[in-house]
Amino acid sequence: MNNKSEAWGQAFPWHKEVFTQIVQRYQSGRLPHALLFSGDAGVGKQQLAYSIAAFLLCRNAEHHACGQCSGCELLKAGTHPDLLQILPESEGKQIKIEQIRSVQSNIGKTAQQGGYRVVIVQPADGMNANAANALLKNLEEPGENVLFILISNRLSALLPTVKSRCQHTPLPLPDQEQAKVWLQHQLDSHAAQHADSLLRMANGNPLTAVLLASEALHKQREQLYLNLESLTRGAEPIELAAAFLQGDLHWMLRWLQAWLADWSSWVLLQQDEQVKYPEMLPLYRHWQKTAHLNQARSLFLSIGELRQQLASGANPNTQLAVESLLIRWADKMLG
Ligand SMILES: [Zn+2]
Repeated sequence: MNNKSEAWGQAFPWHKEVFTQIVQRYQSGRLPHALLFSGDAGVGKQQLAYSIAAFLLCRNAEHHACGQCSGCELLKAGTHPDLLQILPESEGKQIKIEQIRSVQSNIGKTAQQGGYRVVIVQPADGMNANAANALLKNLEEPGENVLFILISNRLSALLPTVKSRCQHTPLPLPDQEQAKVWLQHQLDSHAAQHADSLLRMANGNPLTAVLLASEALHKQREQLYLNLESLTRGAEPIELAAAFLQGDLHWMLRWLQAWLADWSSWVLLQQDEQVKYPEMLPLYRHWQKTAHLNQARSLFLSIGELRQQLASGANPNTQLAVESLLIRWADKMLG
């Protein structure tokens, strides 16, 4: 991911320290053969992995990749033969053993450009058991000048033996001020005025905040609000399901959870100025008459389960899943 305020091949400002530590370990000959970066989606793990790969594959790197040498040019073109990326074949699919094997046969040979080989596995928790066990062999007997970088949002799904063979760095979010400054640089002047509220909605995650600011998502959220309003007014859940399914399912579930959480704290605090989504207040007031906190909690958990299913690559019947979610919503929240 290249954001406009980021120089090419550099980590996000809030990961500069981690980046520098890794560079120093390399320069003193103590670079581990496997790194593991964990943290929330959108914290910048991929950018950090890429910046380290760029540093190692650059021919003139001092503090970071130069951006101009033949190594950097190959990377920018996406054709560097010594950067190997292991990704699911399509989103949500598992990483298979064949993919690990093909990289293994590649790193058995000498680096084509004569330096390091970097293998990025993303998401590492997306490897099926066979793939993870195959990778374990490499982590146990690393080759010369090969660096594995594993990236994970869901550490609990990663084989413990894989995790224990990597140097693990949980990646932090930036502090609030740093996040705000960075975000304001990413947005046009109109959107930048809303940096604070975007960051609140994104739970402090600046990359998520950039996504939230995008027009399409904004429209989708407005539409979701209207659909939820219809449901609240008594429309039939089954008939509404098609409308709910029009946008991106992942974001829809995320917002529904966010609104339930926001509603719950509003019910507890009763302070309108504390809500994260003020435009939701008319619906919040309605639900307060018809629902209890524990019902919202149970709904929140079942949406979480559905999100987990989707994230794990299971392929539930989304039509049925959304219909049953809306029936539950009507049952729990609308009395
Ligand atoms: Zn370079």
